[in-house]
Amino acid sequence: MIGAPILSVVIPVYNEEAGLAQLFARLYPALDALNIPYECLFINDGSRDRSAALLREQFQKRPDVTRVILFNGNFGQHMAIMAGFEHCRGQRVVTLDADLQNPPEDIGNLLAAMDRGHDYVGTIRRTREDRAWRHWASRLMNRLREKVTHIRMTDQGCMLRAYDQTIIHAITSCREVNTYIPALAYTFSSHPTEITVGHEERAAGESKYSLYSLIRLNFDLITGFSILPLQFFSLLGMGLSLLSGLFVVFLFLRRLIVGPEAEGLFTLFAITFFLIGILLFSIGLLGEYVGRIYQQVRDRPRFLIQGILEAEPSATSGEDPLVR
Ligand code: UDP
Ligand code: MG
Repeated sequence: MIGAPILSVVIPVYNEEAGLAQLFARLYPALDALNIPYECLFINDGSRDRSAALLREQFQKRPDVTRVILFNGNFGQHMAIMAGFEHCRGQRVVTLDADLQNPPEDIGNLLAAMDRGHDYVGTIRRTREDRAWRHWASRLMNRLREKVTHIRMTDQGCMLRAYDQTIIHAITSCREVNTYIPALAYTFSSHPTEITVGHEERAAGESKYSLYSLIRLNFDLITGFSILPLQFFSLLGMGLSLLSGLFVVFLFLRRLIVGPEAEGLFTLFAITFFLIGILLFSIGLLGEYVGRIYQQVRDRPRFLIQGILEAEPSATSGEDPLVR
């Protein structure tokens, strides 16, 4: 079966020991019910808890359909998925979070959408079970991102998605360091679609994303896919210099007509602080792009794989699975 599975399910795992047993208990029956050759590819993203041990156990239970990539550090969810994409063998690839927020039972619906000829199936969470502030913040960012990058994703946060092999090849040929896989996939897709899927509260454990990392992620989403923000600041700078030029003319005429005056000092402060704020933000934004270039030219490996647990193709004939 492991020779050429039709479906690969790629699951990044980072400190998920509390929920893994439940995940296995639902994922494997759901996939078995599809009646197609499949493989589950777990990527342990340098978990500091017992996740790696649990994955190893599960691999020993179902070596025919399970493979585990072990990172030797924490390289982030999207790098974990990237490693999964580089190693998966299926014609269709589904990504899923390990926390059971998206039901594995919905994978069948994703495949049905692919049967209708779509090469990329995005998802929209039917009801979203997250904290309210995350709900609103992500809607706002979603809209901004859509305007800037022209990538249309109704719900950018949902990771239960399906990709055709051709898109996987395109994604793995990208050498970007900080990327957002669903958005990258969208840019390569010729016939994308979206379907709604279920969303539940985290089964166990806690979210790995802090407010800070969510902000980082959104910066990556915008700066990784568009230079419009940079162009916006050159336009803004143009507008502001035009305005301040007119202001100089106005003050000069006033000086000639009204004579010397020293009022309006605090208005001037307000305007100055506002402009300094814009200036700092634009320098920071410039830094975002410079940082990206810096990371890219360093050209370090994006992730390091400690080992891969997988059965030799002959394992189906009864031999012991080998670990390499
Ligand atoms: N994850 C990962 N590496 C990280 C952070 C998260 O592999 O550095 C995995 C995590 O185990 C989970 C998925 O990415 O399977 C999504 O993480 P989480 O559920 O914490 O994100 P949220 O649903 O809160 O956005
Ligand atoms: Mg989650």
